[in-house]
Amino acid sequence: MAGDESVTAGAVHRGIGMTSERTRARLIQRLEEAGIRMPELLETMRMLPRHLFVDEALASRAYEDSALPIGHGQTISQPYTVARMTQALIEQRRPDTVLEIGTGSGFQTAVLASLVRRVYSVERVDELLERAQSRLRLLKFRNIRFRHGDGSLGWPEYAPFGGILVTAAPRGVPRNLAEQLAPGGIMVLPIGEGDAQVLLRVTRSEAGFEHEVLEPVSFVPLVAGVS
Ligand code: SAH
Repeated sequence: MAGDESVTAGAVHRGIGMTSERTRARLIQRLEEAGIRMPELLETMRMLPRHLFVDEALASRAYEDSALPIGHGQTISQPYTVARMTQALIEQRRPDTVLEIGTGSGFQTAVLASLVRRVYSVERVDELLERAQSRLRLLKFRNIRFRHGDGSLGWPEYAPFGGILVTAAPRGVPRNLAEQLAPGGIMVLPIGEGDAQVLLRVTRSEAGFEHEVLEPVSFVPLVAGVS
């Protein structure tokens, strides 16, 4: 049953999936214990039907706090990681527009689009992008613009952005992305290779860029070009 489109969009949006309220409540409690504090973010994580963002065969595991495969060697990020990155991006100041690099399943996109006015999301794998787009359409999101392309170039036509969130790891901070941050804007991204990755928060101030290392993470690499 999970993840099929016979569930009406309205029911889906209210979070009536195959998974019991209790399973979701457990996940939210876990996020709170791990330091996720923004009530609106926790509520968004509780309401979004994550089982619609994975293959039906994996739907029963959608409310575990783990990353799951989504094809093309990519993964949907762990719920904790999605919440942690979102909180780091918006806790100090809520950006009006956010550029997301690495749409993947579209789950992080949905979290962002629930919390900010407009989201721009770039994905290099066409098939993943198509699937994410149709899920987000089913869920009635209307404030997301998608692009098939190499996200390391950003999206200059819509720059500058109040926030940038990157969900695949480059070796260092991509200059194109940093330059597309508005003054006072914040970028959250993983950087580094293998097991030496960290989550970084970059804030653009008048004096330049401030860097803050948040915690160790594990992401797929940011890959140049499209497929
Ligand atoms: N937030 C997503 C994470 C997906 S994994 C989710 O939770 O589902 C990272 C994604 O980044 C993959 O879909 C991968 O194809 C994409 N990606 C990797 N390099 C990229 C690049 N240069 N530009 C755009 N997307 C890229």
